[in-house]
Amino acid sequence: MNSTPNRQIIPASTSAAHRALFLDRDGVINDEINYLHKPEQVHFVPGIFSLCRSAQRLGYKLIVVTNQAGIARGYYTEEDFHALTRWMEAAFAREGVQLDRTYFCPHHPEHGVGAYRRECQDRKPNPGMLLHAAQDFSLDLARSVFIGDRCTDMAAGQAAGVGTLLLLEGVERGDCADGRNYQRIATVDAALPLL
Ligand SMILES: [Mg+2]
Ligand SMILES: [Zn+2]
Repeated sequence: MNSTPNRQIIPASTSAAHRALFLDRDGVINDEINYLHKPEQVHFVPGIFSLCRSAQRLGYKLIVVTNQAGIARGYYTEEDFHALTRWMEAAFAREGVQLDRTYFCPHHPEHGVGAYRRECQDRKPNPGMLLHAAQDFSLDLARSVFIGDRCTDMAAGQAAGVGTLLLLEGVERGDCADGRNYQRIATVDAALPLL
């Protein structure tokens, strides 16, 4: 009997897989404030709820992927982060949007305190958070979309094989060296026709 115990089982068709709209948090969902960790610091980016409602209607999973070096640096705790995430999820829910999950990396390779100081495959530009989400939600990454505002977002998306990479203009002035397959968008609304 032929057996191939180590062979990975790959679905013949990807039609059952979900698409995801990956969202960086700071600078895409809310205006970037350094080491934001309290609800009163949150100003939502105009158009983000409407975009998410549309994506949800189209069947996209809504996945937030955020580096949280502020935890590594000891500026706020993981519990602070989770409390803010719950608050944000409730704010989205009031707007008719269910965020499916928020992935975060609390590590930093140089500035982390104690166990938080380490290299991590989850920290963008590494693709770990996207790959975890792909497993957790059976995502078809090639048919998924990632909106970020930094080149590290684009690099993470490219490394994971996300098909559509959108760089929200504002922070990055020049071109990104990595993630060459991205497109620039001036507002989050501009992502809608690309879904
Ligand atoms: Mg950002
Ligand atoms: Zn990490």
